[in-house]
Amino acid sequence: MSGGRAPSKTHKYRAKPVTIDGTRFASRAEGRYYQQLKIMHKGGLIKDFIIQPVYTLHAGIKYIGDFDIIHNNGDIETVDVKGVETGVFRIKRRLFRQDYGRDITIIKVNKNHEGVFTFDKKEREDMEPQQVDEMQAVKTKASMGVDLQQLIGRYIRLVQRGKSSGMVGKCLKCGNDTLYVFNPRTHKTPAYYSCASCQANGMAVDFLTDFQSMPLEEAIAQCTREKRS
Ligand SMILES: [Zn+2]
Repeated sequence: MSGGRAPSKTHKYRAKPVTIDGTRFASRAEGRYYQQLKIMHKGGLIKDFIIQPVYTLHAGIKYIGDFDIIHNNGDIETVDVKGVETGVFRIKRRLFRQDYGRDITIIKVNKNHEGVFTFDKKEREDMEPQQVDEMQAVKTKASMGVDLQQLIGRYIRLVQRGKSSGMVGKCLKCGNDTLYVFNPRTHKTPAYYSCASCQANGMAVDFLTDFQSMPLEEAIAQCTREKRS
């Protein structure tokens, strides 16, 4: 197991990791699905399978699937064994569809039948603290390296106020001329904006979602384009 999927100590939906054949799986369900794939492989039902395949999505965001199944006709199917679909996963799933032109199959273990079937129950909206952190990491990664003054300058007229302070413009939330934009010299932190009146603040992705009502995946895509231009 790797990436951002490590269960936190406070996680409500914490699953017990298991180790099978020297590989650590995030949950018993994942381990059981692995054993099912092994049987399918031995029986010639599938050509092969890969454990925890790593995919790079927009803006270098990483998605680690649970398995890639290589079917006998050569088709690849990426599978995620899930107890609960998190907000971050939903975003990554949408990015995955855009980047790879196929969907991720979600598998859920049926407790009553001990079998495995496709997960289709209503997605859970509420996010756990750990997922909020992961969402923040996704936003930071996407915003990193974007020239925020240039981006915001397309929507709001920015002027230099004072020598040392950043550019300032009219805040679209409160209407005051107190929206400061800071482009740090170092590339270790993303540029950010902050309103001295209403405390609205954030990074490039947040500006697009909060001020321009852009869906998150679109905002991430635009940030990626900004970095290239
Ligand atoms: Zn404001």
